[in-house]
Amino acid sequence: MNPKKKSRVFIIDTSAILSGKPINLDNAIMITTSSVSDELKPGGRDYQALQFLMEKGLAINSPSKGSIDKIKTISNETGDLDRLSEADMSVLALALDISADDDKEAVILTDDYSIQNVAHILNIKFESISQRGITKRFIWSRRCLGCGKNFKENLKTCPICGSATKNIVSGRANIGKRGRDDK
Ligand SMILES: [Zn+2]
Repeated sequence: MNPKKKSRVFIIDTSAILSGKPINLDNAIMITTSSVSDELKPGGRDYQALQFLMEKGLAINSPSKGSIDKIKTISNETGDLDRLSEADMSVLALALDISADDDKEAVILTDDYSIQNVAHILNIKFESISQRGITKRFIWSRRCLGCGKNFKENLKTCPICGSATKNIVSGRANIGKRGRDDK
């Protein structure tokens, strides 16, 4: 349809920085969020990894409030909300902002399964730093610790017996090619 090639923008999450693996993206655009950089304490080895990437051109940006809200809603539906830190959500939200630009293609670099899962739902590409991206995504639900009933909704307490609930994996679905780098 549109012959113009989109420029790829890599959004780098905490797990990618902490992996300690060299990220060689051949002059590609690299961005992370201020929430991610705030997680890394100045002076530590992890912070040095961040500084190294910044010297290589890593920019720091903040996502829009609207995208943060959308990520919260969707991750609540998938059951990933409890597993996502503020920084994780900011990475997904920034990817959503970048995807809204027709000239750009957002690719999240992450080893975090919950980020990958939500990215997949949003049709945002991701690549795993450890090169072992998931091929199946988890379908989460909540199980009541009292009566054992499962709920699709992210309920903290059971509406039937009032007991606490916990996250469980209720199934797996194939991801296929979508969300993977298939160049
Ligand atoms: Zn119950």
